[in-house]
Amino acid sequence: MGQAKVRVGVIGAAGFIGSGHLHRLATAVDGAYPTAVYDVKRERLEPHAERYGVKIFDSADELIASEDVDAVLIASWDATHAAFTKQCIEAGKPVFCEKPLATTLEDCQSIVEAEKRAGKPLVQVGFMRRFDPDYRKIKEILRSGELGAPLMAHCISRTPKIASGFTDSMQVTNIAIHEIDVMRWLLDEPIVKGQMIYGRPTGFAEEGLHDPQLALMWSKSGCLIDVECAANSYYGYEIQCEIVCEKGTIRLPDPPAPIVRSRLLCATEVMDDWSERFPKAYQAELQHWIDVIRGLRTEYGPGSEDGYAACAVADAMIRSQATGLPEQVTGCGQ
Ligand code: NAP
Repeated sequence: MGQAKVRVGVIGAAGFIGSGHLHRLATAVDGAYPTAVYDVKRERLEPHAERYGVKIFDSADELIASEDVDAVLIASWDATHAAFTKQCIEAGKPVFCEKPLATTLEDCQSIVEAEKRAGKPLVQVGFMRRFDPDYRKIKEILRSGELGAPLMAHCISRTPKIASGFTDSMQVTNIAIHEIDVMRWLLDEPIVKGQMIYGRPTGFAEEGLHDPQLALMWSKSGCLIDVECAANSYYGYEIQCEIVCEKGTIRLPDPPAPIVRSRLLCATEVMDDWSERFPKAYQAELQHWIDVIRGLRTEYGPGSEDGYAACAVADAMIRSQATGLPEQVTGCGQ
């Protein structure tokens, strides 16, 4: 595509992350600008059209096919990702798909196959933690070997309140999926076994939802990873990660915030939602995607194979919710 600016269409542009990505594309990503938006909530797109000068489409099909759209960003709800991604591949257009790539292994597989048929990489998945400077530093330290082999990892993913309709399997496909991907990437090896364990449910969870849950994963070399997944933590949004190695540990820092001392109290604010937690990563993942499309970098970030591998791990963990036992990861080259 050379150096021309990339014209991007955003599906799900009225949502939280869709509108954030739209804003970044319009204001902060070099070499790109948004031209088109679509969302089932059409009325919520009017302010975007006015602000960013984008055209509102009446369907995803029309947006993907539009001659004014070189590349597509998918930020609609999880279950819609697979079909839209395949449509983009079939149209030969680069596609940035928010995580998860798909909610079933079959759909992930069909995306990988469609991309192979297209004969060139077209997909980047929104596993943005790979672009976060702190996670990157952790990877650098692990890679250097200075702390010896990683033995265990303790992670936390807490969201204060979740939308109605959130299910047990979404604890895996929507929440733990980030840790599944980032741990595969940090440890540079496959996850081979996974399990979800239920804790006592919080009174803030919807009837029938097990919340919180504890995810356990084992890497190929035996590193044991635990992730507390909480969709109704009440008090705030929090992501933690500590990797225990033979000679020391590495811990993701808390986001910088002023420490306030008042009478008999020393405190920092806790975030209310995910949107403020990794701003540099959201920016960097989109810049990377656009740079690849423009030929300024050679490889997309996490691609369809990574989306597939993460889904295979998620699949094992969802199976474990029914069996109550650790389940082997099957179905892909990991
Ligand atoms: P959201 O606020 O509900 O936004 C999704 C938007 O897409 C809503 O306006 C929704 O409309 C719309 N939509 C649903 N189905 C659609 C369809 N078939 N065609 C077009 N638009 C459709 O959700 P969100 O929190 O932004 O999350 C969106 C996606 O991003 C999810 O897949 C989520 O997993 C992912 N996400 C990723 C991160 C990250 O850190 N990488 C963070 C947050 C979210 P309705 O409200 O009517 O359904």
